[in-house]
Amino acid sequence: QELQLFYQPQININTGEVGGAEALLRWQHHELGFISPGLFIPIAESSDLILDISKWVLETACKQNESWMLSGFPELCVAVNLSGKQFQQDNLVEDIANIVGMTQLKPHQLELEITEGLLIEDVQKAINTLTNLHNLGFILALDDFGTGFSSLSYLKRFSLDFLKIDQSFVRGIPHDNDDVAITRSIIALAHSLQMNVIAEGVETIEQANYLENHGCDKLQGYYFSRPISAQDFTRFWEQKLEEY
Ligand code: C2E
Ligand code: CA
Ligand code: CA
Repeated sequence: QELQLFYQPQININTGEVGGAEALLRWQHHELGFISPGLFIPIAESSDLILDISKWVLETACKQNESWMLSGFPELCVAVNLSGKQFQQDNLVEDIANIVGMTQLKPHQLELEITEGLLIEDVQKAINTLTNLHNLGFILALDDFGTGFSSLSYLKRFSLDFLKIDQSFVRGIPHDNDDVAITRSIIALAHSLQMNVIAEGVETIEQANYLENHGCDKLQGYYFSRPISAQDFTRFWEQKLEEY
């Protein structure tokens, strides 16, 4: 019982509203204190523990999202990170559909974040999995875009809804010419392939303004909020709603 999910708001650019949240794992160890997911997830991934953890993450995120919906908040899309081993599971699509089916959520209220690394292992299988998830109505986002082995020829076949610009590119905005060029190219590429773009790691108002002016669809980062507990997220959201 030491795991917890935190939620980081994602802001819709055209409305300024909270349009989504990324669920991020936190482990508060009773002796060692806080352990970063960047540290313990790769270890869990090397055993089957990651499968139990991943299932718990999906269930917890969906139940939380349902509970926000039932308490009267506007519709929210919660994004969950998929692990490699989880993605390889033959019953992945069925499991996800079952978990969402136990709630009153609509499929488009769950977003699945995958990294390029997950897709290159068995491309045909990945295409099938993503097509099935897409056909069921789930939202698909390609995380850390531009840092892996981006195969542009496959991009279109993966049924993706969002490209997520990696924070390493966002960091250099608006001063680093290379990061600016890469970011603008990603936005243009995504839009010309009928995908949306979300930027992560947005820490300053300059970055937020630049991304907004260049057509990014959603923003996420410390500038808006760090990942916070469900309780704090509720308060953050209530405050945002009062601003309108
Ligand atoms: P990620 O999916 O790329 O998540 C984004 C990371 O960037 C998060 O780190 C988040 O806290 C951090 N971040 C968000 N905004 C900013 C910002 O403005 N500036 C900076 N410098 N950082 C920002 P976190 O929570 O430590 O997670 C690290 C990684 O662990 C995640 O990277 C993801 O790969 C993995 N992870 C986290 N939760 C889960 C999970 O439930 N399942 C799986 N499979 N992986 C997870
Ligand atoms: Ca992510
Ligand atoms: Ca990321």
